[in-house]
Amino acid sequence: MPFSGFDDRVAELRGTIAEAVRRGGYGQDVRLIAVTKTYGADAVEAAWLAGIRDVGENKVQEALDKQPAVTGDATAMRWHLIGHLQRNKVKFLDRFTLFHALDSARLADAVHEFGERRGAAVDALLQVNVAGEETKGGFEPSEIGKEAERLRPLAGVRLIGVMTMAPFGAGEAMLRRVFAGARAARDSLVLAGHPARELSMGMSSDYEVAVEEGATMVRVGTILFGTRAT
Ligand SMILES: *Cc1c(COP(=O)(O)O)cnc(C)c1O
Repeated sequence: MPFSGFDDRVAELRGTIAEAVRRGGYGQDVRLIAVTKTYGADAVEAAWLAGIRDVGENKVQEALDKQPAVTGDATAMRWHLIGHLQRNKVKFLDRFTLFHALDSARLADAVHEFGERRGAAVDALLQVNVAGEETKGGFEPSEIGKEAERLRPLAGVRLIGVMTMAPFGAGEAMLRRVFAGARAARDSLVLAGHPARELSMGMSSDYEVAVEEGATMVRVGTILFGTRAT
Protein backbone atom coordinates (compact mmCIF):
# COMPACT_ATOMS: atom_id res chain seq x y z
CA MET A 1 0.00 0.00 0.00
CA PRO A 2 1.60 3.25 -1.09
CA PHE A 3 -0.34 5.34 1.45
CA SER A 4 -0.58 3.04 4.45
CA GLY A 5 -2.43 4.47 7.42
CA PHE A 6 -3.97 7.10 5.20
CA ASP A 7 -7.56 6.61 6.37
CA ASP A 8 -6.45 6.95 9.99
CA ARG A 9 -4.63 10.19 9.24
CA VAL A 10 -7.71 11.60 7.52
CA ALA A 11 -9.91 10.61 10.49
CA GLU A 12 -7.45 12.19 12.92
CA LEU A 13 -7.25 15.36 10.84
CA ARG A 14 -11.03 15.64 10.72
CA GLY A 15 -11.10 15.31 14.49
CA THR A 16 -8.48 18.02 14.99
CA ILE A 17 -10.37 20.31 12.62
CA ALA A 18 -13.64 19.75 14.53
CA GLU A 19 -11.91 20.64 17.81
CA ALA A 20 -10.44 23.79 16.26
CA VAL A 21 -13.91 24.82 15.05
CA ARG A 22 -15.18 24.44 18.61
CA ARG A 23 -12.32 26.50 20.06
CA GLY A 24 -12.68 29.21 17.44
CA GLY A 25 -16.41 29.66 17.93
CA TYR A 26 -17.28 30.46 14.30
CA GLY A 27 -19.26 27.22 13.89
CA GLN A 28 -18.29 26.99 10.22
CA ASP A 29 -18.20 23.93 7.98
CA VAL A 30 -14.64 23.17 6.88
CA ARG A 31 -13.88 21.56 3.56
CA LEU A 32 -10.77 19.43 3.53
CA ILE A 33 -8.75 19.90 0.34
CA ALA A 34 -6.05 17.24 -0.04
CA VAL A 35 -3.07 18.79 -1.83
CA THR A 36 -1.78 16.09 -4.19
CA LYS A 37 1.02 18.05 -5.90
CA THR A 38 4.12 15.92 -6.64
CA TYR A 39 2.04 12.78 -5.92
CA GLY A 40 0.36 10.67 -8.58
CA ALA A 41 -3.19 9.68 -9.44
CA ASP A 42 -2.95 6.99 -6.74
CA ALA A 43 -2.93 9.77 -4.11
CA VAL A 44 -6.16 11.14 -5.58
CA GLU A 45 -7.70 7.67 -5.47
CA ALA A 46 -6.57 7.07 -1.87
CA ALA A 47 -8.11 10.42 -0.89
CA TRP A 48 -11.40 9.46 -2.55
CA LEU A 49 -11.51 6.13 -0.72
CA ALA A 50 -10.99 7.98 2.57
CA GLY A 51 -14.06 10.12 1.84
CA ILE A 52 -12.25 13.22 0.57
CA ARG A 53 -14.00 14.87 -2.36
CA ASP A 54 -11.63 17.80 -3.05
CA VAL A 55 -8.01 17.83 -4.17
CA GLY A 56 -5.69 20.78 -4.76
CA GLU A 57 -2.87 21.29 -7.25
CA ASN A 58 -0.64 24.36 -7.52
CA LYS A 59 0.49 23.84 -11.13
CA VAL A 60 -1.93 23.69 -14.03
CA GLN A 61 0.13 21.35 -16.18
CA GLU A 62 0.67 18.86 -13.39
CA ALA A 63 -3.08 18.78 -12.71
CA LEU A 64 -3.95 18.36 -16.38
CA ASP A 65 -1.52 15.45 -16.64
CA LYS A 66 -2.86 13.79 -13.48
CA GLN A 67 -6.58 14.13 -14.10
CA PRO A 68 -6.88 11.61 -16.97
CA ALA A 69 -4.82 9.06 -14.98
CA VAL A 70 -7.39 8.91 -12.19
CA THR A 71 -9.64 5.84 -12.35
CA GLY A 72 -12.83 4.54 -10.77
CA ASP A 73 -15.19 6.61 -8.63
CA ALA A 74 -12.37 9.11 -7.98
CA THR A 75 -12.96 10.52 -11.47
CA ALA A 76 -15.75 12.50 -9.77
CA MET A 77 -13.20 14.29 -7.56
CA ARG A 78 -13.40 18.11 -7.44
CA TRP A 79 -10.13 19.80 -8.46
CA HIS A 80 -8.97 23.09 -6.98
CA LEU A 81 -6.28 25.22 -8.57
CA ILE A 82 -4.44 26.68 -5.57
CA GLY A 83 -1.40 28.19 -7.31
CA HIS A 84 -0.66 31.09 -9.63
CA LEU A 85 -2.15 31.00 -13.12
CA GLN A 86 -0.64 32.68 -16.18
CA ARG A 87 -3.10 34.80 -18.15
CA ASN A 88 -2.60 32.76 -21.33
CA LYS A 89 -3.81 29.65 -19.49
CA VAL A 90 -7.18 30.84 -18.22
CA LYS A 91 -9.01 28.44 -20.53
CA PHE A 92 -7.79 25.57 -18.37
CA LEU A 93 -9.98 26.86 -15.54
CA ASP A 94 -12.62 24.68 -17.21
CA ARG A 95 -10.90 21.74 -15.55
CA PHE A 96 -11.23 23.07 -12.00
CA THR A 97 -14.06 23.56 -9.51
CA LEU A 98 -12.50 26.60 -7.88
CA PHE A 99 -9.57 28.89 -8.58
CA HIS A 100 -7.96 30.01 -5.31
CA ALA A 101 -5.26 32.36 -6.57
CA LEU A 102 -6.79 35.40 -8.25
CA ASP A 103 -3.78 37.57 -7.48
CA SER A 104 -3.85 40.57 -9.82
CA ALA A 105 -6.28 42.90 -11.58
CA ARG A 106 -4.99 41.85 -15.01
CA LEU A 107 -5.53 38.19 -14.25
CA ALA A 108 -9.02 38.99 -12.91
CA ASP A 109 -9.84 40.70 -16.23
CA ALA A 110 -8.61 37.69 -18.20
CA VAL A 111 -10.62 35.28 -16.04
CA HIS A 112 -13.71 37.45 -16.43
CA GLU A 113 -13.31 37.46 -20.23
CA PHE A 114 -12.95 33.68 -20.22
CA GLY A 115 -16.08 33.29 -18.08
CA GLU A 116 -18.07 35.54 -20.43
CA ARG A 117 -16.85 33.62 -23.48
CA ARG A 118 -17.81 30.23 -22.09
CA GLY A 119 -21.13 31.58 -20.80
CA ALA A 120 -20.60 30.63 -17.14
CA ALA A 121 -18.86 32.64 -14.46
CA VAL A 122 -15.62 31.26 -13.04
CA ASP A 123 -15.72 30.71 -9.28
CA ALA A 124 -12.62 32.27 -7.75
CA LEU A 125 -11.06 33.43 -4.51
CA LEU A 126 -9.14 36.68 -4.22
CA GLN A 127 -5.63 36.00 -2.95
CA VAL A 128 -4.64 38.35 -0.17
CA ASN A 129 -1.04 38.99 0.84
CA VAL A 130 -1.75 40.04 4.41
CA ALA A 131 1.87 40.05 5.62
CA GLY A 132 3.05 42.01 2.56
CA GLU A 133 5.64 39.40 1.59
CA GLU A 134 7.65 40.26 -1.53
CA THR A 135 7.89 36.59 -2.48
CA LYS A 136 4.13 36.04 -2.50
CA GLY A 137 1.47 37.22 -4.90
CA GLY A 138 -1.89 38.65 -4.10
CA PHE A 139 -3.55 41.91 -3.17
CA GLU A 140 -2.49 43.99 -0.20
CA PRO A 141 -5.31 44.33 2.34
CA SER A 142 -5.49 48.07 1.57
CA GLU A 143 -6.21 47.33 -2.12
CA ILE A 144 -9.08 44.91 -1.50
CA GLY A 145 -11.92 47.39 -1.15
CA LYS A 146 -11.15 49.15 -4.42
CA GLU A 147 -10.58 45.91 -6.35
CA ALA A 148 -13.81 44.47 -4.94
CA GLU A 149 -15.71 47.50 -6.27
CA ARG A 150 -14.02 47.23 -9.66
CA LEU A 151 -14.80 43.52 -9.97
CA ARG A 152 -18.42 43.78 -8.89
CA PRO A 153 -19.86 44.39 -12.42
CA LEU A 154 -17.64 41.78 -14.10
CA ALA A 155 -20.09 38.92 -14.61
CA GLY A 156 -17.52 36.42 -15.88
CA VAL A 157 -15.97 35.94 -12.46
CA ARG A 158 -17.81 35.07 -9.26
CA LEU A 159 -15.80 36.01 -6.17
CA ILE A 160 -16.85 33.53 -3.52
CA GLY A 161 -14.17 34.38 -0.98
CA VAL A 162 -10.55 34.92 -0.11
CA MET A 163 -7.39 32.81 -0.01
CA THR A 164 -4.23 33.51 1.93
CA MET A 165 -0.95 31.91 2.93
CA ALA A 166 0.88 32.72 6.15
CA PRO A 167 4.64 33.42 6.05
CA PHE A 168 6.78 30.31 6.31
CA GLY A 169 7.63 29.58 9.94
CA ALA A 170 5.33 32.27 11.35
CA GLY A 171 4.63 32.12 15.07
CA GLU A 172 1.13 32.04 16.50
CA ALA A 173 0.71 35.81 16.86
CA MET A 174 1.67 36.37 13.22
CA LEU A 175 -0.59 33.50 12.09
CA ARG A 176 -3.56 35.04 13.90
CA ARG A 177 -2.82 38.46 12.43
CA VAL A 178 -2.63 37.03 8.89
CA PHE A 179 -5.74 34.86 9.16
CA ALA A 180 -7.78 37.61 10.82
CA GLY A 181 -6.63 39.94 8.02
CA ALA A 182 -7.95 37.49 5.44
CA ARG A 183 -11.24 37.30 7.32
CA ALA A 184 -11.50 41.09 7.22
CA ALA A 185 -10.76 41.02 3.47
CA ARG A 186 -13.61 38.56 2.95
CA ASP A 187 -15.91 40.84 4.91
CA SER A 188 -15.04 43.73 2.63
CA LEU A 189 -15.89 41.60 -0.42
CA VAL A 190 -19.29 40.92 1.12
CA LEU A 191 -19.75 44.65 1.76
CA ALA A 192 -19.03 45.30 -1.93
CA GLY A 193 -21.79 42.86 -2.87
CA HIS A 194 -19.85 39.67 -3.65
CA PRO A 195 -21.18 36.23 -2.57
CA ALA A 196 -17.98 35.76 -0.56
CA ARG A 197 -18.47 33.05 2.07
CA GLU A 198 -15.24 31.12 1.73
CA LEU A 199 -11.94 31.54 3.55
CA SER A 200 -9.26 29.26 2.10
CA MET A 201 -6.42 29.26 4.62
CA GLY A 202 -4.39 26.80 6.60
CA MET A 203 -1.77 24.27 5.48
CA SER A 204 -0.24 21.29 7.30
CA SER A 205 1.74 23.45 9.73
CA ASP A 206 -0.91 26.05 10.57
CA TYR A 207 -4.39 24.71 9.77
CA GLU A 208 -5.52 24.56 13.42
CA VAL A 209 -5.01 28.30 13.93
CA ALA A 210 -6.58 28.97 10.52
CA VAL A 211 -9.70 27.00 11.45
CA GLU A 212 -9.88 28.78 14.83
CA GLU A 213 -9.84 32.03 12.85
CA GLY A 214 -12.71 30.92 10.61
CA ALA A 215 -11.21 28.97 7.68
CA THR A 216 -13.88 27.24 5.57
CA MET A 217 -11.33 25.42 3.40
CA VAL A 218 -7.97 24.02 4.49
CA ARG A 219 -5.33 22.94 1.95
CA VAL A 220 -3.21 20.17 3.41
CA GLY A 221 -0.67 17.92 1.73
CA THR A 222 2.28 16.90 3.90
CA ILE A 223 0.23 15.86 6.90
CA LEU A 224 -1.75 13.40 4.73
CA PHE A 225 0.72 12.10 2.16
CA GLY A 226 4.08 12.70 3.81
CA THR A 227 6.97 15.03 3.01
CA ARG A 228 7.29 15.78 -0.69
CA ALA A 229 10.48 14.78 -2.49
CA THR A 230 10.63 18.11 -4.33
C1 LIG B 1 1.62 22.95 -1.30
C2 LIG B 1 0.54 23.87 -0.92
C3 LIG B 1 -0.28 23.61 0.20
C4 LIG B 1 -0.10 22.40 1.09
O1 LIG B 1 1.07 22.50 1.84
P1 LIG B 1 1.42 21.42 2.99
O2 LIG B 1 2.38 22.14 3.84
O3 LIG B 1 2.00 20.23 2.31
O4 LIG B 1 0.15 21.09 3.70
C5 LIG B 1 -1.28 24.52 0.48
N1 LIG B 1 -1.49 25.62 -0.27
C6 LIG B 1 -0.73 25.91 -1.34
C7 LIG B 1 -1.01 27.13 -2.11
C8 LIG B 1 0.30 25.05 -1.70
O5 LIG B 1 1.07 25.34 -2.77
